[in-house]
Amino acid sequence: MISPESSLALLFFIIGACLGSFGNVVISRLPRNLSIVRPRSQCPHCKKQILAQDNIPIFSWLMLKGQCRYCKNKIGIRYPLVEIICAVLFLALYLKLGLTVTLIEYLIFAWASVIASFIDLDHRILPDVFTLSGIVIGLVGAALNPDRIFIDALIGVLGGGGFLWLVAYIYMAIRREEGMGGGDIKLIAWIGAVLGWRAVIFSILCSSIVGSIVGGVYAAKQKSGMRTSIPFGPFLVFSGLLFIFGGPEIMHSYLNMFFPFFE
Ligand SMILES: [Zn+2]
Repeated sequence: MISPESSLALLFFIIGACLGSFGNVVISRLPRNLSIVRPRSQCPHCKKQILAQDNIPIFSWLMLKGQCRYCKNKIGIRYPLVEIICAVLFLALYLKLGLTVTLIEYLIFAWASVIASFIDLDHRILPDVFTLSGIVIGLVGAALNPDRIFIDALIGVLGGGGFLWLVAYIYMAIRREEGMGGGDIKLIAWIGAVLGWRAVIFSILCSSIVGSIVGGVYAAKQKSGMRTSIPFGPFLVFSGLLFIFGGPEIMHSYLNMFFPFFE
């Protein structure tokens, strides 16, 4: 006998996996301005339509051992990876928040920001359809959701977005080159709108640390010096999501490390 809680948890995992599968379609088609509804999913190599039974998230990729049924070309591990990330996030958010309005808001944010991250990885753009809509939806959510404080979200948007815009503007004026992209600034404002201003501070700090570690390792592997550009969006999204699951606790121990006299 499965308890109602575990069946709900399983349901969120499955919904996440399916939306991850849809996300794969969005990642590959949206930047090319193709319809995300038609035609149905195709093999990226031979363009044959994928059968319904071969289109089950995660499972089909495993059954077909990561190959197309027809041409036997490799189907990248990226596809099941996006599905697993979404599935695990949906499950974890449900377990963290239960059936609340905040859960709905965070599910939308988690899905859209993960998909936007992969588009950023592939194309170095964070489409406005994600970031700007995210800011609007986040602010409306903050106004309607009794568990959120609207002013926190507004400060997040204006403080985070405005502050970074100013930094980028000054950098541009002095260095005559773009440091941080406009998409990243809108992403920060989006994080602020959904998660509040504390998440903005956390995300900027955390993504800088994680970003420089990963960037350093990447540059060392490439042996092309520090000029290698890797998109910043995925680090911001990772940090925003990390904030949901333990931001305040991490922030607390981080501050303790440098300012132990606070305790
Ligand atoms: Zn094929």
